[in-house]
Amino acid sequence: MIAPSVMNLTAVPAFSDNYIWMIDDGRHALVVDPGEAPPVEAALDARGLALKAILLTHHHADHVGGVDRLRDRLDGPVFAPGHERVPQPSLPQEEGDSVEALGLRFEVIDVPGHTSGHIAYFNREGAGEPIVFCGDTLFSAGCGKLFEGTPAQMHASLSKLAALPEGTRVCCGHEYTVANLAFAAAVEPDNRDVAKHAEHCRAIRARGEPTVPSSIGRERRINPFLRTAEPAVVRAALAHGASGQGGTEVLAAIRNWKNEFR
Ligand SMILES: [Zn+2]
Repeated sequence: MIAPSVMNLTAVPAFSDNYIWMIDDGRHALVVDPGEAPPVEAALDARGLALKAILLTHHHADHVGGVDRLRDRLDGPVFAPGHERVPQPSLPQEEGDSVEALGLRFEVIDVPGHTSGHIAYFNREGAGEPIVFCGDTLFSAGCGKLFEGTPAQMHASLSKLAALPEGTRVCCGHEYTVANLAFAAAVEPDNRDVAKHAEHCRAIRARGEPTVPSSIGRERRINPFLRTAEPAVVRAALAHGASGQGGTEVLAAIRNWKNEFR
């Protein structure tokens, strides 16, 4: 029996605030949402890694724009949401499917809201703590804008992600954490976890390092969009136009509030 190889998880920065996630075992790599090719090529070259799979969460250009160029060095499949228009050829995925790459199995979860066919990839074991690649659905201390889906869809999608094991590493598509925490503090001024994590993340960003991956357990404590049943979040939502106290109404109100928040 060969011991499982050590898996590295890396956030490769792209554009101004995107992350292209990479997992590698020292020889082979997979990448998630390569919006542009050069940072991925540089990361692969720096460590002599062969690209074996690409996973896509949704169709936005800053998540798929590098796929066609990376096909030159890709020796494996492109897994993609089955209900969105993405670079072809790709293998279409939806909830209930699972994909295999680098010997790791990822369960596909439908998470519509940011886009109508957005999916996430969840690895339960095999790379240390569980991992979820959630694209632009769940951010640390925030969630994606509702470009195509409804508040009810986003609430259901975030509820699925919130139900993952608390140690699950949350690998999201953007570095928005510090700004998101400023909003989270406006929603819940008395949430000490928000205040403490904001201070921590400001120091991390001052060193130029990523504030992610976060964890599902932390997000349950700091992310207002996962805390729509908390009395303080409900009160804040009602003060910002929520039409009711249900999770969907609360999410809709704080999402609209966040859109205007500076
Ligand atoms: Zn997006």
